[in-house]
Amino acid sequence: MDIFLTEKHKIVRHSVRDFAQKEIVPIAKEIDEEQRFPWEVVDKMAALGYLGIQAPKELGGAGMDTVSYTIIIEEISKASASLGLCASVHNSVAIYPILAFGNKSQKERFVPDLATGKKIGAFCLTEPNAGSDASAIEATAIKYENTQSFNNSHQNDSNSDKQDFDKHDEYYIVNANKVFVTNGGVAETFLIFVRTNPSAGPKGISVIIAEKGSAGFIVGERENLSGMRANPVSSIRLSDCKIHASNLLAKEGQGLKIGLAALDTGRIGIAAQAVGIAQGSLEEGIKYAKERIQFNVPISKHQSIQNMIADMGTQVESARLMVYRAALLKDMGKPFSKEAAMAKLMASETASRVADMAVQIHGGYGYSKSYPVERYYRDARITRIYEGTSEVHRMVIARSLLS
Ligand SMILES: Cc1cc2nc3c(=O)[nH]c(=O)nc-3n(C[C@H](O)[C@H](O)[C@H](O)COP(=O)(O)OP(=O)(O)OC[C@H]3O[C@@H](n4cnc5c(N)ncnc54)[C@H](O)[C@@H]3O)c2cc1C
Repeated sequence: MDIFLTEKHKIVRHSVRDFAQKEIVPIAKEIDEEQRFPWEVVDKMAALGYLGIQAPKELGGAGMDTVSYTIIIEEISKASASLGLCASVHNSVAIYPILAFGNKSQKERFVPDLATGKKIGAFCLTEPNAGSDASAIEATAIKYENTQSFNNSHQNDSNSDKQDFDKHDEYYIVNANKVFVTNGGVAETFLIFVRTNPSAGPKGISVIIAEKGSAGFIVGERENLSGMRANPVSSIRLSDCKIHASNLLAKEGQGLKIGLAALDTGRIGIAAQAVGIAQGSLEEGIKYAKERIQFNVPISKHQSIQNMIADMGTQVESARLMVYRAALLKDMGKPFSKEAAMAKLMASETASRVADMAVQIHGGYGYSKSYPVERYYRDARITRIYEGTSEVHRMVIARSLLS
């Protein structure tokens, strides 16, 4: 598989693998069990550029390509999928849409803090009644003109981002109830999908950049998840939250376009995450198969176990190649939407199957928290659901093949 990688990519892989081994692997079990977001490691990830992987250097980013991005997400996810999720969402569906659709002032205002990890980003599309059907969102942002000077930060919140409104400034009153927000409990910059024109159907959807600390911005309950337990996936509520009109991303009505572009990019990240989980499961399966003795031989001598390892290895390599293909197409400036959807479908289903086989190789011990495969098994499952379910991906792929 390395034939696709340049020397630069190999150096990136070597350094992120080394970092993950030293800094993430030792705490991966503990942060999962304690549902702890490890700021001490996230700060180190930021220092290495992993929170601004593709952001331009002049905006504080590392200026790397998409293939490097997949390598970094794969290696971090192999060590802790929760941290891989944090980095993937932050880079691809929080920073990327601002870079791709934001104006100069928005890029300068929001990207440097995100790309250097000073602030964590989040993407808020899903609502209680709008999951796969994003066009069903009910959140609203209604535009008004200001009539008096106003500051909308929480008076008692020392971390708040103050937003001053001059007379005649335009602003939105945002009401939204967003659920399953990755990074929700720690993020400070949120891309909120809203209806700016409630009667215009899908064409009335827009994206507003909201900042934690604004009056009416509430971080809700943290989800008690099966996997990805170190990521504070939470609900977010905006209640009559006054947000400056300059925080509108692109133009009113472009929300679905922005969302689809962000998810195309995001899917490459989730696919890379799934490959990381699958690779970790494969390595743990091989290690255990060589150590465990049954019927007086290591179980790796039994053909059934060998068959599983052969299938696992083959499926991991196939998924990784598909992820590289989607990333390379994006780097070449070519269409990659179908390929990203195929890579995400393939890699997420591979992660589930491979983690399942790794548990099987471990027998009863694979079902206990003593071995990492139990965590891989739980973490793998969600990759078939978020940023588009497998069923939705099949619809996207079929539509493209049949067009
Ligand atoms: C850990 C985690 C993190 C998440 N992070 C984020 C985030 O950061 N931001 C965000 O906005 N969202 C996030 N989500 C939400 C996630 O993207 C949604 O859960 C996902 O899009 C599916 O939506 P849903 O759960 O409402 O399921 P539903 O849309 O209700 O789907 C239920 C089932 O019906 C199937 N289905 C639905 N429509 C069709 C159809 N037309 N044809 C065939 N089958 C169909 C689905 O495939 C699925 O099997 C996260 C979720 C989790 C669990």
